[in-house]
Amino acid sequence: MNFSNKLINWYNSNKRDLPWRRTKDPYKIWVSEIILQQTRIEQGKKYYYKFLKKYPDITSLANTNNNELLKIWEGLGYYSRALNMLKTAQIVLEKYHAIFPSSYNELIDLPGIGDYTASAISSICNNEVQPVVDGNVLRFLSRLYKVDLVIDSAKTKKYFKNLGFQLIKDANPGDFNQAMMDFGSTVCKPRKSDCFDCIFSTDCKAYNTDSVMLYPIKKKKIKIKDRYLNYVVVITKDRKTRIKKRNDSGIWKNLYEFPLIETKTEISSDKIINKLDINFLKLSDIKKTKHKLSHQLLHITFFMFTVSDALDDFISIESLNKYPFPKPINNFISELV
Ligand code: SF4
Repeated sequence: MNFSNKLINWYNSNKRDLPWRRTKDPYKIWVSEIILQQTRIEQGKKYYYKFLKKYPDITSLANTNNNELLKIWEGLGYYSRALNMLKTAQIVLEKYHAIFPSSYNELIDLPGIGDYTASAISSICNNEVQPVVDGNVLRFLSRLYKVDLVIDSAKTKKYFKNLGFQLIKDANPGDFNQAMMDFGSTVCKPRKSDCFDCIFSTDCKAYNTDSVMLYPIKKKKIKIKDRYLNYVVVITKDRKTRIKKRNDSGIWKNLYEFPLIETKTEISSDKIINKLDINFLKLSDIKKTKHKLSHQLLHITFFMFTVSDALDDFISIESLNKYPFPKPINNFISELV
């Protein structure tokens, strides 16, 4: 039996019942694929339902605004994904008259859609022969064939894409791709792979040379940068405060935060007080938390000040839940409201 037949047989008896597998609507498949980038399936499911309830079709999404969309996305991270979805929805509405495209060549030109997403959608919804290459597929194939290429490079992805083209032959492309992803995530797992029960163990080069854990070959670890974010949280006696929208192109673009003073190291409350642009009655509390991003460790401190009068740009604490915030700030706010 050839590779694809063996894999599809396995898939037919082991496939996971996931909500986006009950549809071939490219809009819904696209929503699921974007949510699942960097997100675990269980968490992704909740967001998938929530997203489709709010935006059941491309027109409802195209007509939303950044704030409403980011509110739905709150807690998922990698917020540029959501902003790119809005841009894509607006293009689809204009250029494709609200019909979400399903061909690889049309999809690949849309914001936030790369080879992986275009391959997934076009194979599932349009039966196009486009093998997907994601982390699960890379791990599985690099072990099976003992591929000594460092992952995370464009050259390596191209290599695996070509290998995928050779393997996908004769199979239904959508099933093949979903089977590859399922196999990588449930059998050929990152740490405890189920080699003993694996249908490919006789052919697997890494297994037969006792080197499974050496694959895939990874780049040296990236140095994590420490950042110190000091938030000035001013609160009036009638519970009003001040927030700002992040406009820079770094992390959390377009989300909201309290007025920020970023420093190179941890800073004392005295130094924060010297930088204040508002009269305050007292420093009422200091709360600290840490938040890890892929390349940064954020040391976050909330300096809470009681002030006497609200300025023009103050809003009530109760209305904060209308704005999208990054997760660590949202956690802080949940203790305030
Ligand atoms: S034998 Fe182990 S390493 Fe090889 S493909 Fe199967 S699960 Fe992956």
